Amino acid sequence: MLTEGDPRLARLLDGIVRLAAGELDTRIELSPARDEIDAVIMGTNLLAEDLQTMYQELEERVASRTQALHQAHLEMRHMAMTDPLTGLFNRSALVQALEEAQVEEADGGQSPALLLVDLDAFKSINDSMGHSTGDQVLVIIGDRIRSAVRKGDTVARLGGDEFAVLLPGATPAEATTIGGRVLAALDQVIEIDGKSLRCGASMGLRMAEPGQTAEDLLMEADIAMYESKAEGRNKLKAFEPSMLHARQLRTQLVGELKDAIIESQLVLYYQPIIALATGEIEGAEALVRWKHPTRGMIMPDEFIPIAEETGLISELGNWVLRNSVDQLRRWRTDPATSRHKFSMRINVSAADLQRLEFIEDVRDTLAAAGLEPAQLVLELTESSIIQGDELDRYTLASLERLGVGMEIDDFGTGYSSISYLRRLPVDTVKVDRTLLSALGSDPAQPALIAAVLQLIRACGLEAVWEGIETAEQAEYLRSIGCTSGQGYYFSRPLPEAEFTEKLRRLDVWPG
Ligand code: C2E
Ligand code: CA
Ligand code: CA
Repeated sequence: MLTEGDPRLARLLDGIVRLAAGELDTRIELSPARDEIDAVIMGTNLLAEDLQTMYQELEERVASRTQALHQAHLEMRHMAMTDPLTGLFNRSALVQALEEAQVEEADGGQSPALLLVDLDAFKSINDSMGHSTGDQVLVIIGDRIRSAVRKGDTVARLGGDEFAVLLPGATPAEATTIGGRVLAALDQVIEIDGKSLRCGASMGLRMAEPGQTAEDLLMEADIAMYESKAEGRNKLKAFEPSMLHARQLRTQLVGELKDAIIESQLVLYYQPIIALATGEIEGAEALVRWKHPTRGMIMPDEFIPIAEETGLISELGNWVLRNSVDQLRRWRTDPATSRHKFSMRINVSAADLQRLEFIEDVRDTLAAAGLEPAQLVLELTESSIIQGDELDRYTLASLERLGVGMEIDDFGTGYSSISYLRRLPVDTVKVDRTLLSALGSDPAQPALIAAVLQLIRACGLEAVWEGIETAEQAEYLRSIGCTSGQGYYFSRPLPEAEFTEKLRRLDVWPG
């Protein structure tokens, strides 16, 4: 019976209040009476029990959800920080690691060092063997870099074929040693699908300086890397402030080159190609120079690479084509020079072969000047054709059909095989001047020169020998059956007026 003042009612009330406040382990004591009040107490306890179980389950579910969320967050972070192909860190992770290393250095640690690695032959591997092989190469390279560095070093792929290693603390000597180890590992042969490849790499090193931003560090390591690439394969170069200056100069030249083409600051010099047996002129090679308004004469080795990298090479090439062909027309029609029958030789860059309009440009320019296609010879470097793809082959075949002459330039500096040369639509090979430089000092050189000439002949091609500087060299080459030569012995490259003067005066060179 419900009686006022029953102490169980107070306990019941108190229990319900505590349960409502969230103390789910609260249980209300039963009395020995086992009456209706005890029944309500029992029911309340059962509800409390259920409530507690439900609550615990809910908490567990929330905990596991939280855990899953955390995991997903970690994975996302990992994904945002890694390069999916190689599993290495990516650029933003590297920048973060660089910033952390800089902070540690500021706290009294050793200064971090950054190595930037760029593969030398990746583009041609990718182009010739396909992207899936290219990807495999990148994965192998990533593994090799990782095994060549120390445990605490960070290896990242920055994109393409560019990798970086952050050494959180290293002396310049240590960084150089580790860099050398990475280069040695990357120079090893790579075996893929039964094929052996060798990629090689160039490396730039930048020791961090206090207060330097990660972006500056990367930029300066990049500059050092470019310098090492320019020096040849498998080199490591440490950043020097003078490199920054050279880069600035380059950037300036890039800006100015465009105007140079428009404002006709370019000039052509001409160097004769001579028939060794008679001393008569067979050809004139057009060699471009840049008459810079403030820097003086700039030689092509300094600005052709810039023109190639910035895409200005096709405009430049077109300028050379039009001006040289027009010059040949003038020499052919001028009564003082028209007795010489020689062709114009121009240097063609790999980028030109990639332009379909190039074929039309050549045809139209020749037609406008009233010249036969055979009066123009295109000098193509080995590397520009050897790396050739479908488009290159199409352009070469079209040019051959057009009837212009084609010549391999700088022969002997590349890697092309003789059998490859035989398949190309070329009729002459210009042998690089370095193959002649040791003639006279090296007793083995004459035999090498004779062998190279024999090889070219065996392919049904004629040779033009470049870099002839003495009468002895000219005579030796003539004696072994080389038909044509070019070099300072006959004439240096000359400006138009001087070349015209020589044509007027001379019948045989050097005269
Ligand atoms: P290249 O086609 O191998 O040109 C021959 C280079 O050797 C010229 O240098 C020439 O001055 C130099 N030379 C000639 N005879 C001798 C010699 O007896 N001894 C020595 N030591 N050198 C000799 P240059 O004019 O500085 O040209 C350098 C390179 O620039 C050329 O090498 C060619 O690859 C490139 N080039 C020049 N003009 C053009 C152009 O109009 N278009 C393109 N795409 N490249 C060009
Ligand atoms: Ca040439
Ligand atoms: Ca050459």
